[in-house]
Amino acid sequence: MMIDSSVTEIRGIGPKKAAALEKLGIRTVGDLLRFQPRTYEDRRNPVPISELEPGMPAFVRGVVISVVSDPRRYSRKRVLKVLAEDSSGRMEVVFFNAPFLARDFVKGEEYCFYGRPSANKGHIQMIHPEFSKAGGAREEIVPVYPLTAGITQYELRRLEREAAGLAADAEDFMPQDIISGNGLCSLQDALKNIHFPADMDALNAARYRLMYDEMFVLQTGLLMMRSGGEEGIEFAEDGTEKEYQSFLPYELTGAQKRVISEIAADMERPERMNRLVQGDVGSGKTAVAEAVLYKAVRNGFQGAFMAPTELLARQHFHTLTEDFKGHGVNVGILTGHLSAGEKQETLKALKAGEIDIMIGTHALIQPDVEFRKLGLVITDEQHRFGVDQRSRLGDKGRSPDVLVMTATPIPRTLAVIMYGDLDVSVLDELPPGRQKILTKAVTDKSRDLVYNFVRGQAAGGRQIYVTAPLIEDSEEIDARSAESIFAELSKKFPECRIALLHGQMSEQEKSSIMEDFSAGAYDILVATVVIEVGIDVPNATVMVIESAERFGLAQLHQLRGRVGRGKEQSYCILITNGEGQVAKDRARTMVESSDGFYIAEKDLELRGPGEFFGTRQHGIPDMQLTDMVKHMDIMEQVRGKALELFEDDPGLIREKNKGLRNRVEALFGEDINIHI
Ligand code: ADP
Ligand code: MG
Repeated sequence: MMIDSSVTEIRGIGPKKAAALEKLGIRTVGDLLRFQPRTYEDRRNPVPISELEPGMPAFVRGVVISVVSDPRRYSRKRVLKVLAEDSSGRMEVVFFNAPFLARDFVKGEEYCFYGRPSANKGHIQMIHPEFSKAGGAREEIVPVYPLTAGITQYELRRLEREAAGLAADAEDFMPQDIISGNGLCSLQDALKNIHFPADMDALNAARYRLMYDEMFVLQTGLLMMRSGGEEGIEFAEDGTEKEYQSFLPYELTGAQKRVISEIAADMERPERMNRLVQGDVGSGKTAVAEAVLYKAVRNGFQGAFMAPTELLARQHFHTLTEDFKGHGVNVGILTGHLSAGEKQETLKALKAGEIDIMIGTHALIQPDVEFRKLGLVITDEQHRFGVDQRSRLGDKGRSPDVLVMTATPIPRTLAVIMYGDLDVSVLDELPPGRQKILTKAVTDKSRDLVYNFVRGQAAGGRQIYVTAPLIEDSEEIDARSAESIFAELSKKFPECRIALLHGQMSEQEKSSIMEDFSAGAYDILVATVVIEVGIDVPNATVMVIESAERFGLAQLHQLRGRVGRGKEQSYCILITNGEGQVAKDRARTMVESSDGFYIAEKDLELRGPGEFFGTRQHGIPDMQLTDMVKHMDIMEQVRGKALELFEDDPGLIREKNKGLRNRVEALFGEDINIHI
């Protein structure tokens, strides 16, 4: 077996297990090595039995003083009770339906137990702990991996043990001078010790090394991307972005004007623009995009406007088509759902330069999409895109300017990780006349009251969103589903026009329902989070969020932002059935604040950065991202080191930097723009 062998070459791994591993992103032995534990169980220092706390997982060493296999049946469960004691006290260990385990225990011998204690009538118990004979190999720091269906902790540990035997074969991609200059341990040691460290020092060194690697690759990649933009397009100082104001029925806010001129100033510089616009939901980012796209078009260039969903792409298409009507700007749309003929035609027109602004989903970054003269690329709701996509779209023209827009305010720390030193503009002002959205958190018990309120709003001509975390009811997950709410409301409120929208519908179905809702054809829209981003229906005034405990703060804030877009008073009602502290904290934050930046900071505190971002797209493992956020000081140092290396060898073409370059390309995509 070799480090790049498929996991199927490990004994006992058939197609089923391989498929489960694949879900964790593990295909090869090397992937196994790089798959990091979520946490560790320290089994070296046992907790005295008298100090066990119910609910807190702990490692205990005790001598078995009795083993009773209960012959009676309690509710058809067979019970095995093992009594263990140490010098501080006694603990009862309980196994259900596992009478055969009785053979594993010998009275008078010492065993190790790892589990979650509970209190039972004054006794301390552990139910189904992991156990082994004391003095065996398991009294160590034991890795705990994130799991997926079809693979157990025990199996994964076994696989990792096999893989760890090959850690010594790993090829170190870091330049030797970086390793020695920064006191890093070898990659081979790190890959072994991240799984099976002999002690805390070894584990810390391994974690540090792997985190350093990720930071270094990230910072180097960001530097390369940025330098790729050094030579860009110099748009004319022609004021056309201001001309656009006259197309609009309303006056731009001060913040919009400011941000538009910040962007225009970037565009007028010869360097390539790389700017992030953060604007809370409803702050009017689309108008900002339009103004600067207009500038690009008046300068003889094409613009690309990329949205994360088809729904949103179509909405932008409608808005832009309306706003530019009669101003000589051709707007096109390209999504994954055009017919082959339509697509061919659109692509031809784009290549011929007949389309000035192309709107689309990630279909825009497919290789067959060719622009005639691309000058400006805007991606909306950027947090949904991976860095590599950002650079790929940027590569479609000769260094077009790049603008990234997000409605999820990003705490500064995370912005640094995600975007390096991208320039940031903040839209910190809502259009005038908006009222604060009244937010209430209620429990399940008040559902009837909530729905009566909803009915009253509908009777008054307003529209309502009801969001649920699930599409259909599930046996495993205790949460409300869109389908059951839809059925319930349809029965209760026959006078209301109600629609259902969820992610399993085709894009066409979704768009047409959304468009009908937007046109006022429905009173109530029951939906899953597909309405999360960007949808703009000013007449919608109520957002009811069912099973709100299932959503993260950033998501709740996004959902709430779907209402409050018109002149009427709007409401957001969170219905929770969870008693959990996190759910309560989140609900309180939502009720207290409507400031996206404040909420983002809270979200980071409550959930950690992985969830906040949807790390998967970003390609950095959750735990490492968490580590990075905690160690911004190290990130700053790494940035300095990466800059040194980069200035010395900007294209990373020297032999010693080749491995690093491969890693950067793996994270950012091969097309990363490089100037030597
Ligand atoms: P977001 O920043 O969430 O993408 P949108 O661009 O969708 O926000 O704008 C939200 C709504 O506000 C739209 O209906 C838009 O027409 C309106 N809007 C934008 N700017 C202004 C403004 N300066 N004055 C009044 N309404 C505005
Ligand atoms: Mg938007």
